[in-house]
Amino acid sequence: HELRTPIAAIRAAAETLLGGAVDDRSAARGFVEIVARHAERLARLTQDLLDLSRIESRQLRIETAVLDAAPIARQVVELLAPTAREKGLSLATEVPEGTSVRADARALEQVLVNLVENGIKYTSQGSVTLAGGRDPEQGVVLTVTDTGPGIERHHLPRIFERFYRVDAGRSRDLGGTGLGLAIVKHLVIAMGGEVTVESGSSGTRFAVRLAAP
Ligand code: ADP
Repeated sequence: HELRTPIAAIRAAAETLLGGAVDDRSAARGFVEIVARHAERLARLTQDLLDLSRIESRQLRIETAVLDAAPIARQVVELLAPTAREKGLSLATEVPEGTSVRADARALEQVLVNLVENGIKYTSQGSVTLAGGRDPEQGVVLTVTDTGPGIERHHLPRIFERFYRVDAGRSRDLGGTGLGLAIVKHLVIAMGGEVTVESGSSGTRFAVRLAAP
């Protein structure tokens, strides 16, 4: 269904164009825009599905080593700062230098990018904060906290499932594929960690627990 919808839309727009709309300049533009929008969506879906299948089939090797989470958190925040700025959100990292963690650098970066991107996407006012530190019992905990609308309790057990969305229309409008959190969960498990979520009316917090060396 997720793949068929954009394919059907592209096909219908192309057929309409071929059926004569191509000669009507203003109508043609609308149909070409439909093709472009759905092609973009298909590209994102394909990329996320490929990532998931590479992780699941273990083609993507995940090798943990001891590394400092602070510079990775900083890179993620630098990468997404322009998007946050455009929305007028403040984005900060509070991961202390020297937060040693056992992780795969690329996988950890992807996990944090997905969580911070979601925080930015679903929050219309306030902030998104990436924090972290040692947890006396559970190794290292990295959290992504936003001041968004929160997720109703009954959805929480399912949001890591592929294609599960609280509001499919809104997610699609925001460019979501419904696969971001499934990818997060797989990567965290592959690193031997755990990801959890807490949410209320004042926002959402995702916590990634990883082993400390
Ligand atoms: P999507 O591509 O739809 O964002 P995800 O797998 O990343 O897919 O997230 C699944 C769903 O969980 C989203 O559609 C959204 O409903 C909800 N969600 C994820 N992160 C947040 C957040 N920070 N605040 C509110 N809702 C969220």
